Amino acid sequence: MSTTAVGERLGRVVADIAAHSEQAGRAGNAVSLVAVSKTVSTDIVLQAHDAGHRAFGENRPQELERKARELPDDCEWHMIGHLQKNKVRPVCRHAHWIHSVDSPALLKRIDRIAGEEGTCPNVLIQVNITGEDTKAGVDPAEVRPILDAAAECRNLTCAGLMTMAPFGASEALLREAFGGLRQLRDKLVVEGECQLPHLSMGMSGDYRIAIAEGATMVRIGTAVFGAR
Ligand SMILES: *Cc1c(COP(=O)(O)O)cnc(C)c1O
Repeated sequence: MSTTAVGERLGRVVADIAAHSEQAGRAGNAVSLVAVSKTVSTDIVLQAHDAGHRAFGENRPQELERKARELPDDCEWHMIGHLQKNKVRPVCRHAHWIHSVDSPALLKRIDRIAGEEGTCPNVLIQVNITGEDTKAGVDPAEVRPILDAAAECRNLTCAGLMTMAPFGASEALLREAFGGLRQLRDKLVVEGECQLPHLSMGMSGDYRIAIAEGATMVRIGTAVFGAR
């Protein structure tokens, strides 16, 4: 793909995110784009960087680490895939955001290792909002214990919730899933007197609905970089 192709796609996606934010009665800059660069070669990601983009998402720790080393230092790296406990150190070293926290033990480990590495990542709790068997993330009832653990952490900021909608779901089901994550967040904030400003939800196929339902971050791969 040529430089202009990546730059043009990126420009179109960014404009579309702003347009749908405004359509939903939200500010044009209320939703930020995480360009999901998994499996995309470094030179193509560099083209997105040249076009002015900085936030990139990866789902494998090794690939995130390699790209973080190869690309300019001003990139902002988002770990969006399942995180095994033996991979926490490289992720803490390079990722500014971790979207996939799914247990109090993982959260505490991130806090300890981030302290050792001198970093302070933002973390999101991944929720299985529709109760699908195949999806990663915790049940809504399991979020509270993770927030309680986060209150004790000093080397991370627990900044909100993340979810993935069922693949190929109807618009009605997508609205239910994304709206459900927002309602869960609102309930947790009222009950726990905590701040959870971020909702990471929406991918290439469903981000417009996620924006209408309150997403603050959308994770988009295919619409920016083409089919994997
Ligand atoms: C791959 C991936 C995305 C991006 O998916 P696209 O359909 O290519 O936009 C978003 N979130 C997660 C967790 C992913 O693994």
